[in-house]
Amino acid sequence: MTAIDLVSDIATAAYVVASLLFIMSLAGLSKHGSARRGATYGITGMTIALLATLCLVVVGTWGQPQADLGLTFLVVAVLIGAVIGLWRARAVEMTAMPQLIALFHSFVGLAAMLVGWNGAQYAVGIPVDLEGIHHAEVSIGVFIGAVTFIGSIVAFLKLSARISSRPVVLPGKNVLNLGALVAFVALTVWYVITPEPWLLVVVTVLALGLGWHLVASIGGGDMPVVVSMLNSYSGWAAAAAGFLLNNDLLIVTGALVGSSGAYLSYIMCKAMNRSFISVIAGGFGIEAPRKDAEDHAEHREIDAVTAAAMLAGASSVVIAPGYGMAVAQAQYPIAELAKQLGDRGVKVHFGIHPVAGRLPGHMNVLLAEAKVPYDIVLEMDEINDHLASTSVVLVVGANDTVNPAAAEDPGSPIAGMPVLRVWEAENVIVFKRSMASGYAGVANPLFWRENSQMLFGDAKDRVEEILKAL
Ligand code: NDP
Repeated sequence: MTAIDLVSDIATAAYVVASLLFIMSLAGLSKHGSARRGATYGITGMTIALLATLCLVVVGTWGQPQADLGLTFLVVAVLIGAVIGLWRARAVEMTAMPQLIALFHSFVGLAAMLVGWNGAQYAVGIPVDLEGIHHAEVSIGVFIGAVTFIGSIVAFLKLSARISSRPVVLPGKNVLNLGALVAFVALTVWYVITPEPWLLVVVTVLALGLGWHLVASIGGGDMPVVVSMLNSYSGWAAAAAGFLLNNDLLIVTGALVGSSGAYLSYIMCKAMNRSFISVIAGGFGIEAPRKDAEDHAEHREIDAVTAAAMLAGASSVVIAPGYGMAVAQAQYPIAELAKQLGDRGVKVHFGIHPVAGRLPGHMNVLLAEAKVPYDIVLEMDEINDHLASTSVVLVVGANDTVNPAAAEDPGSPIAGMPVLRVWEAENVIVFKRSMASGYAGVANPLFWRENSQMLFGDAKDRVEEILKAL
């Protein structure tokens, strides 16, 4: 057995171990209690995978011309990537996580696209009867990679508010999407028969156009599905690159990410009562008809001291957090408020909407960070039936996820989306800075309900004032 065979066998075994660790990581990450362990499995799996790949490259290129140069490039690239990754991970604010993740997805797409292009140029050594499959892999890899790349860039721009989150509505948009898919299949068949580089250029341009249109045409309210969908695409892009590079681990990992992302998209669609296909094809982010303050009676305001008195006299309190809690970083004083009320004998629970915030699980992460006990954090389905018997609901920076229009106004752009029915409680206190609408751009009649009172200002400052008053 040569050194290359030995290292290759060890690397294959290492890849199997890494794959298992990735599966254990996903299983761990699915529950609060085991999430930290899940992350550790993931990190260990990735370290093993990187070391095994590095060994394969070193042994595989040993003694070949310019091997040193290739290795130097590899090490320098890994070092630059690691430094940027560490810096961003340490510096990023929790509120900027969604756009950072969208950016990460775009890197996976870009890598898959470049691997595809590279595979097109270096098709040497492939048996003649397998050349067709190779060319199909190249075309598919470039297509998925380019869709993921540009789609994720658009998502990044929308999530970071660099461009408007309003949907771009082109005439016949479904026909355009479908036409692009049909054209892609035809181009791939053509490329398999005659692998001309210009065909790959057309596939790339087509995929970039489709990727842009897919995400640009989706409105604010549907962005959660887009984020998880791009997560899934990035997995399939990695798997496509794995086929081209003949790397089993990349195929397994890509398939894991691809299928878990697809499942997450399904869960998000269910949470929003949307069909997956209609979100991808049409979206419901049509701009909301403006029903602003003039259509409503005066809203009522409350100050922190009165709110504190109301909370002190309550028998049960539910806290419904939303994106504004993340912006204000209000989770710490809110955790303290929940604790103090609990100590006074008030029953306190958190009600979490599945798409609250800007990232699946966003609120859960923030509350866990502030050490809120998991057993008082309930999902929407668990809390909704108890809201009618709740004395006070604190809506902290949530808006779309507590909008009664979703349940009561069939003409609303978010009609049918399940929401936290906070308006059924005896009293509702809404923490926000203005009367502005939420991410979906839909006016919220909750603010004008008789049992609602607005507590204007930064959520963190206001909760701290309540704590002081308590
Ligand atoms: P929304 O985005 O609907 O509303 C957030 C509210 O927070 C705003 O109305 C804002 O009002 C208020 N706010 C902002 N900053 C502060 C602050 N410092 N202090 C107090 N209030 C503040 O939030 P929800 O969580 O209810 O809904 C999430 C929305 O985001 C949904 O439409 C969802 O579809 C979408 N989305 C979700 C994703 C996910 O994966 N979870 C991904 C992408 C989009 P004001 O400016 O007046 O203060």
